[in-house]
Amino acid sequence: MRTQVAIIGAGPAGLTLSHLLYLQGIESVVLELRSREYIEHRVRAGVLEQGTVDLFRSAGVADRLDRECLVHHGIELLFERRRHRIPLTELTGGRAITIYGQQEVVKDLIRHRLEAGGQILFEATETTLLDLHTSSPRVRFRHGGEIHELQCDFVAGCDGGHGVSRTFIPPGAVSVYEKLYPFAWLGILAEAPPATDEIVYANHERGFALHSMRSPRLSRLYIQVPRDEPLERWPDDRIWEELRLRLGTDDGWTLNEGPIIEKSITAMRSLVTEPMQYGRLFLAGDAAHIVPPTGAKGLNLAVADVRVLAEALTAWYREGRDDLLAAYSTTCLRRIWRAEHFSWWMTWMLHRHEDEDGFLQRLQISQLRYVCTSRVAAASLAENYVGLETV
Ligand SMILES: Cc1cc2nc3c(=O)[nH]c(=O)nc-3n(C[C@H](O)[C@H](O)[C@H](O)COP(=O)(O)OP(=O)(O)OC[C@H]3O[C@@H](n4cnc5c(N)ncnc54)[C@H](O)[C@@H]3O)c2cc1C
Repeated sequence: MRTQVAIIGAGPAGLTLSHLLYLQGIESVVLELRSREYIEHRVRAGVLEQGTVDLFRSAGVADRLDRECLVHHGIELLFERRRHRIPLTELTGGRAITIYGQQEVVKDLIRHRLEAGGQILFEATETTLLDLHTSSPRVRFRHGGEIHELQCDFVAGCDGGHGVSRTFIPPGAVSVYEKLYPFAWLGILAEAPPATDEIVYANHERGFALHSMRSPRLSRLYIQVPRDEPLERWPDDRIWEELRLRLGTDDGWTLNEGPIIEKSITAMRSLVTEPMQYGRLFLAGDAAHIVPPTGAKGLNLAVADVRVLAEALTAWYREGRDDLLAAYSTTCLRRIWRAEHFSWWMTWMLHRHEDEDGFLQRLQISQLRYVCTSRVAAASLAENYVGLETV
């Protein structure tokens, strides 16, 4: 088997890259560990930055997104039982965020790739990357019970935070910067109309909570729990009770409840791999960096990376230029570190930390009041949240 670009992983990064390359006449094969059914139903992110939506539109894959998405012009910060609105659109010269589930993005991209004759090999296992430091790398994998070898010009490692691509870079060739948080998010998807028009981020003495949504009928809610918390400790009734407490306000607002159709715990960490390339291997998305979900940046960074990578590969194939490929890591890392800082900052400001005398809590409330009363501070949050155009 031979292709121009071998893409490992059919998440938002890998599928978007494959589609952008196809638009430039560059061939790719996508190898995905899981089944199509599995990845089309994996509930994860749901907040798309303006730039992500603009890219999907210009790439012609936003037809269903435009019909079904919810556009939001603000978010709310809740502390001391009162909500404060951050008017994102007003503060950013007209930009907005779009609510559309990551699994829907994945479904759309898979459909567009397959309709255009794109090759996605699902349930490809035992992926091994070979000869990455040569001009003709190879990918060996098992598919349909047989071992195959894919020859290519480049390998794009888009296989997420638990993927294998990164492990084929020799120790010492990259540095990894990492921060683990002592808490996690317990997230639910519930068949209940959202009880809020905009996303609510809550700082509460019992811990962080988030009220988000996926559609007019589906609510997406999260609570901060200790790291390594067993899911069995959280029967549905206990989750709703905690959400009612942490999201409660003094104005009589009530939470809409309904059957929980998905429940999971996500560990929180920040991680950056530098550089994001080794020989002919280019890492993109969660394979290269992780952010805690508080800033809603992971999916958006994945798409931003592959936009840069697709442009660099196009310049290589069309004009024989390798300067953009050489600069890939440096270009992406500017946006990545900005998003890492923003995600860390939002996480710090909103979660309950080890804080014996309440010093940190007082700093958090002071910061929240500042963000909600100073137009400059609010604008800084807003421009980071909707996504910076240039970094
Ligand atoms: C609970 C939760 C909430 C989140 N909320 C948000 C949010 O609101 N906004 C936001 O922007 N981001 C959010 N994120 C982050 C976002 O989901 C990720 O950043 C995003 O999935 C990254 O896309 P990716 O394509 O890089 O990786 P992934 O989506 O992880 O895709 C990687 C793919 O590679 C496959 N794979 C793995 N190993 C192999 C292998 N060996 N061979 C072949 N294939 C392999 C995987 O099965 C997967 O399909 C959230 C994440 C979680 C977990």
